Amino acid sequence: MVSQHQGQAVRLDYPARRQRLREKLFGAPRKTPVDAVLVTGAPNLHYLTGFTGSFAWLVLTPSAEHLLTSGIYETQIAAEAPDIPCTRIPVGVEPPVALRPLLQALGVRMLGVDPSNSLSFFKGLRRALRKEGIAVRPVPIPVDSLRLVKEASELEPIRAAVAIADATFQHILRLFQPEVSEWDIAMEIDFYIRRQGAYPAFETIVASGPNSALPHAHPTERRLQRGDFVTVDFGARLNGYCSDITRTVVIGKASPEHKRVYNAVLEALERSIAAIRPGRRGKQIDAIARETLAKHGLADYFGHSLGHSIGLTVHDGRGFSPREKGKLEAGMVLTVEPGVYIPGFGGVRIEQDVLVTETGCEVLSQSPVQLMEMGE
Ligand code: ZN
Ligand code: ZN
Repeated sequence: MVSQHQGQAVRLDYPARRQRLREKLFGAPRKTPVDAVLVTGAPNLHYLTGFTGSFAWLVLTPSAEHLLTSGIYETQIAAEAPDIPCTRIPVGVEPPVALRPLLQALGVRMLGVDPSNSLSFFKGLRRALRKEGIAVRPVPIPVDSLRLVKEASELEPIRAAVAIADATFQHILRLFQPEVSEWDIAMEIDFYIRRQGAYPAFETIVASGPNSALPHAHPTERRLQRGDFVTVDFGARLNGYCSDITRTVVIGKASPEHKRVYNAVLEALERSIAAIRPGRRGKQIDAIARETLAKHGLADYFGHSLGHSIGLTVHDGRGFSPREKGKLEAGMVLTVEPGVYIPGFGGVRIEQDVLVTETGCEVLSQSPVQLMEMGE
């Protein structure tokens, strides 16, 4: 087996990304009345600098940039983000206190921080900076919207992560048989993903029989039985990028009710995917899935949104939901995952990963979507 080892970092144009963010924040007309912003969050730091560790802060002014990190990451950050000056936070010093001299040196009087940070985070910063006369105010820092539309160079790792998920599904097909436990299937999924040099992108879901009626069931020691729906939902993270697929199979022969529910979900999936193209709104695509399931009398059993963006995180921004007014753009990568969950009977979810193209979309995940009867 050939591993695709970690560490073959995808070299991307990080300075250009920081420049695009600066233009959004500080460009004319000046939308942000602050001297600098503080960018937090590991995926944002990864996207803007190439740093893959779990903690760093990035200070951006219209003309300067500076990183702040702990001693744990000092060497790593020098290797991964060599073009940005970095200050190490001394052991025992709170990060907001370490930020103080840095902001003073950059002449910052007002610092913008994204409102998604917690109230206690704001309080800590304000307390540390007030003494020096530096104000902190909430300012949306739109790294999320930059991350939403993928650059061509990001598609390669995403395709690779999807390919690992497809290979994993192929690998576990032999386990879909009576007496195999959900837990054993989940273990095999995680092991196989890791053996390919990737990581599970999130906690693997294996849900059988009545458990499959729970969209986010945790795997248990329950053993598969004939007549079960079995739903597996998993993904791989490779070079930072995530995939996320779901398949549902039947153990033994599918009953007419299995077929009815499964084919309704499949129809919702296929009709939604066929409608994806730039300019369409997320809620329009979501509505197509809901209408399709309503036609089969199953709309009440679809209790979540249709899909989400994927990228450096597995839920990477907006997607398809009844409230999503944002328009699709070429280069977005999203999941489409209609589901029907019937308490006591079981559930079906089928999840594809798609890339929005200029004319429609390309389905990236290749595992079969037709109903599979397993374990005969
Ligand atoms: Zn999923
Ligand atoms: Zn998903």
